[in-house]
Amino acid sequence: MKKIKDRAETALANAENFEELEKIRIEYLGKKGKLTQVLRGMGKLPPEERPLIGQLANQIREELENQIEDVKKEIKEKEKHAKLKQEVIDITIPGRKYNIGKKHPLTLILEDIKGFFIGMGYEVVEGPEIELDYYNFEALNIPENHPARDMQDTFYINDKILLRTQTSPVQVRVMEKTSPPLRIIAPGRVYRSDEVDATHSPMFHQVEVLAVDENLSLGDLKGTLIAFARHLFGEDRGVRFRPSYFPFTEPSAELDISCIACNGAGCRLCKYSGWLEILGCGMVNPKVLEIVGYDPEKVSGFAAGMGVERIALLKYGIDDMRLFFENDLRFLYQF
Ligand SMILES: [Zn+2]
Repeated sequence: MKKIKDRAETALANAENFEELEKIRIEYLGKKGKLTQVLRGMGKLPPEERPLIGQLANQIREELENQIEDVKKEIKEKEKHAKLKQEVIDITIPGRKYNIGKKHPLTLILEDIKGFFIGMGYEVVEGPEIELDYYNFEALNIPENHPARDMQDTFYINDKILLRTQTSPVQVRVMEKTSPPLRIIAPGRVYRSDEVDATHSPMFHQVEVLAVDENLSLGDLKGTLIAFARHLFGEDRGVRFRPSYFPFTEPSAELDISCIACNGAGCRLCKYSGWLEILGCGMVNPKVLEIVGYDPEKVSGFAAGMGVERIALLKYGIDDMRLFFENDLRFLYQF
């Protein structure tokens, strides 16, 4: 029995986990265990030896049971330590670098444009991109056979519905619902069936500007737009108004700024003219005011329209419009 006890103790000293411990318990103390078998064989002993052997066997059983409990506690403690060690956080490991999002250059320009006009008391409004022919053309004094309605340029959905080719229809929609005075800008996407190249895209962004009030004059238009051009391109920027034609304004003009690359000396960017066109503008045609029910004898207005991509190209010195839409992160992270 003492040999059994020694072997059991050696095994216990080497037990490393609960499974091994349980195996040892079964081997020695289980129903068919070594110590149990000794107790069962007691019947073969002379009667006077039985109490002595029985006592010894029970004593050994108790000692082994206690030792098993002790080893169990040790193993538990060891496992807890191992787990804690695994969970240790090494605060000296360098952190992971996450890429922070940036605003798209068109968003930056658009926010800049909005900020300027909001500061001047204008309200930002939006209109539908799928538009009625009436608002896109007819109400803007562009009758059916006008060259500006060229089927080549417009995405028609059917005879009366199209993808708007400009943000100007928002003017009409707002004037129909609002009495003067009003000052609005309408930013948004517009569509033309152009082939994609460095300066064309079938979808691009425009901002429409409209002010209507009593006694608004060409002087108000010029003052507002010169301040706007210099806000975008610098206080010292040269500006000029060049007579032009739009069906919905009269008189009409285009606003040029002195070339940002050569400052007026003449270069490839400005086609050696020294000037760059940035927007179209004019006094709202009295016919348009009449169409929306305003009295052209009492109120007048001015309007301007600009391409956001064109302004972004000029402002950031980008030479290809396709970069705005290709989502190349190497390009976008520069802004
Ligand atoms: Zn130039």
